[in-house]
Amino acid sequence: MKIVDAKVVVTRPGRNFVTLKLTTDDGLTGLGDATLNGRELAVVSYLRDHIAPLLIGLDPHRIEDTWQYLYRGAYWRRGPVTMAAIAAVDVALWDIKGKVAGLPLYQLLGGASRDRLLAYGHASGQDTPELLDSVRARLAEGYRAVRIQTGVPGLKAVYGVHTKGAGSASVPHQQARPLVEDWDTRSYLSHMPGVFEAVRHEFGPELPLLHDAHHRLTPLQAAQLGKDLEPYRLFWLEDCTPAENQAALRLVRQHTTTPLAVGEVFNTVHDYQTLLTEQLIDYVRSAVTHFGGVTPLRKLFDLAAVHQIKSAVHGPEDISPVGMAAALHLDLAIHNFGIQEYSGHSPLADEVFQHAYTFADGHLHPGEAPGIGVDMDESLAKKYPYEAAYLPVNRLHDGTVHDW
Ligand SMILES: [Mg+2]
Repeated sequence: MKIVDAKVVVTRPGRNFVTLKLTTDDGLTGLGDATLNGRELAVVSYLRDHIAPLLIGLDPHRIEDTWQYLYRGAYWRRGPVTMAAIAAVDVALWDIKGKVAGLPLYQLLGGASRDRLLAYGHASGQDTPELLDSVRARLAEGYRAVRIQTGVPGLKAVYGVHTKGAGSASVPHQQARPLVEDWDTRSYLSHMPGVFEAVRHEFGPELPLLHDAHHRLTPLQAAQLGKDLEPYRLFWLEDCTPAENQAALRLVRQHTTTPLAVGEVFNTVHDYQTLLTEQLIDYVRSAVTHFGGVTPLRKLFDLAAVHQIKSAVHGPEDISPVGMAAALHLDLAIHNFGIQEYSGHSPLADEVFQHAYTFADGHLHPGEAPGIGVDMDESLAKKYPYEAAYLPVNRLHDGTVHDW
């Protein structure tokens, strides 16, 4: 069997998605998600101009070999553009292998380790009453775990807080120029414990609650927040510091028993080395799409398991249904599954990418279709062309750029 075509499809059914479609000489196809939110066309070029010509004629069954060929063969390693491109190839090859075998991907990865996958949804509000309403809405949708984000007095626009009428969307609609949000760490740190107090008071002690600090704190600030939130028994505190400085998590860890989750912007196992071997975190957050695919993410999860660390695959709306499906197969197969982030996609995106995975009763399942179980309607995709769009940026009150 040989790869005879490698095509990159860019479509915007509500937001931009980049998809690789591989075709074999037997007429089988495989899909891979290569969406890098806000920098999409860099990955398109990497795939179309530099990788696609190398794939023609290769045996699609040789997944590990192809991964190593693309990773080591480029000489220039790592980084989100490279790893998103390699991920798309990796997932498309697993999709093809599943179709050849007539089995869903999770069966090729060892079979199901559980019956269903606990998901968490996003709740947010400009203020606490609005946040409580949003938590109620997620619970009504069936969610059994909820991430809570809230506005902070004195700040106009804060990460993860939806604008009115935007449903559960946690990130504002993509902008042609980056939206400028504002930030003040002191205000945030003094506001958050009261928010958790109110949520626990309303919903009781059992509901798993998560919170994302989005890389904005110093190690000392993160340690303080972790301590202050201990009475509310968080499921986790996410991305408390810009964790490419892995050693920073040592200080946080020494001062708080609040569980920590890190890694959605990481691309390789090397980004995690200190965090794993010193057991400085509790959940690894990488996405199939930005970590080079199912092949390396499986290895990361196995290494994490040695250190009693669980999976929690990144799953915002900009991970396409193709990337989400791949994650769910991996989630079902590994032993150390923790939780899966899931907000669903727009009805339009679900029409372009018809998927076998399902969400019911707060849990996900990848379905039983061969491969990853996603079909792309290319003629429909063509109707929604790419538009330039950026994620927001973040500034302090004095105008200084801060981590978004
Ligand atoms: Mg996050």
